[in-house]
Amino acid sequence: MDYTFLTEKAREAAKNSYSPYSGFAVGAALLLADGRIFCGCNCENASYGASLCAERAAFSAAVSSGARKFEAIAVVGFGPDGERDKVMPCGICRQVMAEFCDGKFRVVVTENGKNKIFSLSELLPSAFADFRAD
Ligand SMILES: [Zn+2]
Repeated sequence: MDYTFLTEKAREAAKNSYSPYSGFAVGAALLLADGRIFCGCNCENASYGASLCAERAAFSAAVSSGARKFEAIAVVGFGPDGERDKVMPCGICRQVMAEFCDGKFRVVVTENGKNKIFSLSELLPSAFADFRAD
């Protein structure tokens, strides 16, 4: 599966981005194990630390609906000059993915117009986990 449909959903979500400070519009589309898709966009704030990434917005929407099983997330970003290559999730978003997903969860980004797929274990090896599980 190349997840082209998921990347297209992420592009649609980026159109709703609220990014007046960075000028960088990000969209994410999260595919659930049951086939549903939840989207998110970045939502910035004058107090920069209060800003939320598109990936976490998508996870929050999905989790709020009761979803717990996830297959993949597509992430795209647009600067003033158009779509950018390889918009990788930040470290905080990778940690949020690790809360709900195993290492096989797929992260889809674009490069030269084509999808590039990473596993979460590639992007966040040795993720921090709840110490109570030991
Ligand atoms: Zn992030």
